[in-house]
Amino acid sequence: MTKIAVFPGSFDPITVGHVDLVSRALPLFDKIIVAIGTNTQKKYLFDLDQRISWLEAVFANEPRVEVDQFENLTAHYCRKIGADYLLRGLRNASDFDYEKTISQLNNIIGEGLETIFLISQPAYSHISSTIVREIIKGGGDASPFLPKEVVI
Ligand code: ADP
Repeated sequence: MTKIAVFPGSFDPITVGHVDLVSRALPLFDKIIVAIGTNTQKKYLFDLDQRISWLEAVFANEPRVEVDQFENLTAHYCRKIGADYLLRGLRNASDFDYEKTISQLNNIIGEGLETIFLISQPAYSHISSTIVREIIKGGGDASPFLPKEVVI
C-alpha cells in the first residue's frame, strides 16, 4: 500500500523550516503532497500562483514530493486523493495546543486520518512565515529564512 501524506499549509511564503520538515518526513512516506489550502477568510501576502511556483521550484528535484492546492476541508481533500496521513510541524507549546484540536477533528472528519507530527529542529523553531512576512513588509532581508529558490 502506498503511504501518502499531505503537508497542508499556507506557505505564504515557504521557509527553510518547511523544507526541513519535508526532508525529514520523506523516509516515513512513499509520497508527500505539499498542498496549499485556501481559506476564503484569510488574506495572503503572496498570491496562490506565486506560492505554487515557489513550491514547485523548491521540490523540483524530489520526485516523491508533489505540489497541489485545495479549498474547503483538509480532511476531505485527503480522502479525495487517497492520503491516509497528514504531516504537521510543532515548534512550541502554542503549535501543540492548536494542532492537537485540529488533528482530533481531522481524525473524525477524515474517518481515521492520522496526523504525524515532527518536532522542529532547534535551528528552525524560531522561523515562521508570519515572521518572514513581517521582515519583508518592514523592508528587511528575509533571505536567511527562505530556500534559495524563493527570491523576493
Ligand atoms: P498554516 O497556515 O496552516 O499554519 P503554515 O504554512 O504556516 O500553514 O505552516 C504549515 C506547517 O508547517 C505547520 O504544521 C507548521 O507548524 C509547520 N511549520 C512552519 N514553520 C515551521 C518550522 N520552522 N519548523 C517546523 N515546522 C514548521
